[in-house]
Amino acid sequence: MIREILNIILASAENAFLQVSVFVGVVLLLFGYINYKKSGKFVESIEKSKKIQPILGALLGLTPGCGGAIFIMPLFVKGKVSYGTIIATLIATMGDSAFVIISTLPIQYIVVSAISFIVAVITGYIVDYYKVGEKLIKNITKLPNQEIKKINEESDHTVQNMSINYMHIGHEEGDEIDIALHHNAKGHQNINSIGYKITHSGFYIYWGFIFVGFILGVMLLFQIDVNTLGIKNLGKIIGIIGTVISIIMMIMSNKFLQDDTHEEEELKRMSLKETLIHNAQETAFVSTWVYVAYLIYEISIFIIGNGNYASGELILTNIMVSQGLLAVIVGALVGLIPGCGPQVIFVTLFTRGMVPFAALVSNAISQDGDALFPLLAIDKKSSLWATIITTIPALVIGVIIYFVEIKMGLF
Ligand SMILES: [Zn+2]
Ligand SMILES: [Zn+2]
Repeated sequence: MIREILNIILASAENAFLQVSVFVGVVLLLFGYINYKKSGKFVESIEKSKKIQPILGALLGLTPGCGGAIFIMPLFVKGKVSYGTIIATLIATMGDSAFVIISTLPIQYIVVSAISFIVAVITGYIVDYYKVGEKLIKNITKLPNQEIKKINEESDHTVQNMSINYMHIGHEEGDEIDIALHHNAKGHQNINSIGYKITHSGFYIYWGFIFVGFILGVMLLFQIDVNTLGIKNLGKIIGIIGTVISIIMMIMSNKFLQDDTHEEEELKRMSLKETLIHNAQETAFVSTWVYVAYLIYEISIFIIGNGNYASGELILTNIMVSQGLLAVIVGALVGLIPGCGPQVIFVTLFTRGMVPFAALVSNAISQDGDALFPLLAIDKKSSLWATIITTIPALVIGVIIYFVEIKMGLF
């Protein structure tokens, strides 16, 4: 029994790393580089084009990860984008789970993105039509200018001592957003902490493991047994160590539910090195949550099947199929939780066939990724309403797609 459990723990570590994490890492590197090059230009253009703001917001939300959406949030409080734009952005955002789907089921990713985009734009325009944002923005209490000045003089950004020419995106130095996002909210890790020193100097070792793992992962896709190559158990060794250092990297980055902050996103646009470091942290974060999902899946099968894998899998699939509608509702509700971690579990379970496509859609529409945190730091009411509003279309569209799936015999 103990031996079997240990086997599950190790096999899940190997599989999670070689089947998902290494691909997530490569996709994250690619998008990290694109984002670095684009350097927030898109954010500037959205301020100017008032009429199509919800469409642009939804497009930014669609970019994998939370970076695009994170930059949109302060613009609402500054009166530069409408509340409908905020809603459209949040609906389109899939957070870090996007990386899991892109790397494992790219076609499903395109379909779910297309659906999210359409729902995002429509909902965004409806919200603006009813002028929901006007009431919210009127009620935001503004700090007196003197107080803002005082806070700014008393303390500076956590990144103050980094040798970097700091450039804000979507707001200015010393304004109200600065106070909310660089002084009061979680920003970048303290540069004197052990975690900072480990993650900011050891990141290339992590990328090394991702790179080697990626080669093995591609071989696995071609049905090559990576454990009988020149080095015996090479796949096991790289996979297990890879998962272990992912967990260490995540703990050292001090990220658990949320993995991406506004301050870090700004830093990533300023320095390619910071992009490499923080994308390594993000990969480690996603990998750890994927590993948790793999464990949940494997252990459930082990318990349900009373030790027999095949019968466990069969019983579990039957339960899941009969409870498909419940999964759709749970998907939408999980989306209420801010941050990316729990969403990664849900989406990974989809890739293992445990929840219907409709549940993936309801979760993708409902969840806001890490983008809700900056809004939460600036104005609680706006962010609370945003997370509630995005859950409504998630439930409606999720249920509709569920019945379409049943009718077509897809699930
Ligand atoms: Zn800033
Ligand atoms: Zn950093």
